Amino acid sequence: MIDVLVIGGGNAALCAALMAREAGASVLLLEAAPREWRGGNSQHTRNLRCMHDAPQDVLVESYPEEEFWQDLLKVTGGMTDERLARLVIRASATCRDWMRSHGVHFQPSLSGALHTARTNAFFMGGGKALVNAYFRSAEQLGVGVRYNAPVSHIELDGDRFVAAHIGPRHVNGRDLPAERIEARACVLAAGGFESNREWLREAWGQNERGEWTADNFLIRGTRFNTGVLLRGLMEQGADTIGDPTQAHMVAIDARAPLYDGGICTRIDCVSLGVVVNRSGQRFYDEGEDFWPKRYAIWGRLVAQQPGQVGFSIIDQKALGRFMPPVFAGTKANTLGELAQQLGLPEGEFVATVQAYNAACQVGTFDHTRLDDCHTQGVQPVKSHWARPLDTPPFYGYPLRPGVTFTYLGLRTDHTAAVHFAGKPSPNLFVAGEMMAGNVLGKGYTAGVGMSIGTAFGRIAGTQAAAALGYHHPSSEITHDCATA
Ligand SMILES: Cc1cc2nc3c(=O)[nH]c(=O)nc-3n(C[C@H](O)[C@H](O)[C@H](O)COP(=O)(O)OP(=O)(O)OC[C@H]3O[C@@H](n4cnc5c(N)ncnc54)[C@H](O)[C@@H]3O)c2cc1C
Repeated sequence: MIDVLVIGGGNAALCAALMAREAGASVLLLEAAPREWRGGNSQHTRNLRCMHDAPQDVLVESYPEEEFWQDLLKVTGGMTDERLARLVIRASATCRDWMRSHGVHFQPSLSGALHTARTNAFFMGGGKALVNAYFRSAEQLGVGVRYNAPVSHIELDGDRFVAAHIGPRHVNGRDLPAERIEARACVLAAGGFESNREWLREAWGQNERGEWTADNFLIRGTRFNTGVLLRGLMEQGADTIGDPTQAHMVAIDARAPLYDGGICTRIDCVSLGVVVNRSGQRFYDEGEDFWPKRYAIWGRLVAQQPGQVGFSIIDQKALGRFMPPVFAGTKANTLGELAQQLGLPEGEFVATVQAYNAACQVGTFDHTRLDDCHTQGVQPVKSHWARPLDTPPFYGYPLRPGVTFTYLGLRTDHTAAVHFAGKPSPNLFVAGEMMAGNVLGKGYTAGVGMSIGTAFGRIAGTQAAAALGYHHPSSEITHDCATA
């Protein structure tokens, strides 16, 4: 019988599989996706957030534990477990050497993401290269990998993992029978439920027109994170954490595909202009904070607008100052013409922009710091980078909520064990999006998804192996578990 079964094929699953294997356990990894779509949302990532006390290879200056913690505290509004959050933060300081040992390479922050040069380590070749390196290393170490293996049910004996079930399925023209795979321990790392439309509908209800609100959402990543195992474990009495409407949601181009649009569909010019809803009205401070700290609230803000749609508006002055999106913006020489092309009520829209323009105070524009260009006498305020939209041509980008990943997850502790009625399971562990809600009750700060998945993936793999008597040669991560 296999020692450790890992369910999922993204960053968290791969970290768990590698650690369990390094400890000496036999490991089988089940990935729902076919090989060409392996890697879940992790294949779309670019970086992870890392604590460091002094410049370290690709990271400049320092980003101490306390600053990382304060950033997390701020974005979550306190909805975070401090012990687990600090565990993730500390683990982020030491994980890169281990990642390198499995073939992950880093590169300095790219232009267009310069604010993150201090806080985020970028993967050379992005998340796709990272998951490819991990799969390669896992296979070299003897981890068994099966694709097209969507687990439909976890068999438990009380709080103990017994087996994973895969339903009958049709793969590459062949009918495959149902399977039952036993293992001595299991790590669940099968992502959130962002690709489960029914569950999103249930969570978000209907909008003012009686449409399902969630039908207006796009999914930024994989179609395979359907939350089947999360739902199943909830029904089997596993403890959960979080609210089903909380998620990392980015305002993305409304023309993006339903799945796997990835980062190139993000609209990054919000802080350089204004955002209006379909009534032509502004609805939030576009210059509240640096974009990496704020981009993840805009999906939710757009989700709360009529029809779940918004429009990011800039003028010629903004060009060249943000990462260009994959679709061209709608271009017009007057605001009225832009309103017509975007289907916005012209009078309302022009009045909104004029009121905003009149409220902009003269300051020294500097997009690299929280500058003094703000508005006065208009609601909502724009706190920084407020400059009148007065230089044609004007550009507009239609926005929709793009769900990155959901936060409702399984409750865990510093050992990554799944809990049942407050008690940790002896042999069932969880990592990544399936438990990120323990650290992220709401909000987001760029790169922390991979920090959580890497820390908890490594802990879950180590603990699953340790539960069977295999001890990882490096005491670092187990030591962190014991002392966090
Ligand atoms: C476009 C985009 C960009 C992002 N950029 C960043 C970034 O730069 N930095 C950052 O920190 N975070 C980023 N994130 C978030 C990041 O992807 C996640 O936090 C992280 O990848 C989660 O890792 P995971 O292993 O838990 O989930 P995933 O990587 O999504 O892996 C889940 C895996 O489980 C598999 N699976 C699902 N259900 C089953 C089942 N029933 N049986 C078997 N397998 C199953 C899936 O196929 C998949 O392989 C981004 C996300 C997206 C979508």
